[in-house]
Parts: sequence; structure tokens; C-alpha cells
Amino acid sequence: MEERLCNICESGEMEHEFHFICHCTLYSNIRESFLQHVGNTITNIWELNEVTKIKTLMFKNFVCLFAKLICDMFEKRDDSLFLQT
Ligand SMILES: [Zn+2]
Repeated sequence: MEERLCNICESGEMEHEFHFICHCTLYSNIRESFLQHVGNTITNIWELNEVTKIKTLMFKNFVCLFAKLICDMFEKRDDSLFLQT
């Protein structure tokens, strides 16, 4: 169990999908610029709960942008873990 704790940030949260996508502070800048971009198209994106927000982002025109976001986050994660070793 302990090995699934996020060792990227200091939240003490499990590093599950929602933590990775929605919470982990390492990706705040990437996440914020993505949401700014998408927020121009989805007017109420800021008011959606996390599950609805992710579902919305995974549909229609956003799937490619969302995939790019995940790739960017994984790249940053790899860089961060590499720097720790
Ligand atoms: Zn984290």
C-alpha cells in the first residue's frame, strides 16, 4: 500500500489516476494551462466536479488535447523521478 503513495509531491495521497490528473502539484502548471485553453470552449468547466470534468475532457474535441496533457504529465513525472535518483 505504502509504495502507491505519490512520491512526486508531498500530499501523502495515493498516486492513483485522479491524483495524477487532478491533484498532484507537480503538474499544476501543465494542468492550469490546459484548463485555460479548454475553458475558453467549455464555459462551466471550472464549476464541474472532478469526475464530470474528466469525463467532459475525454469526449469529443478534447480527446487529442487530453491525450497530449497526459503525455506531457508523464514526461514531467519521468523527469522528476530521474532527478530524484
Ligand atoms: Zn502527487
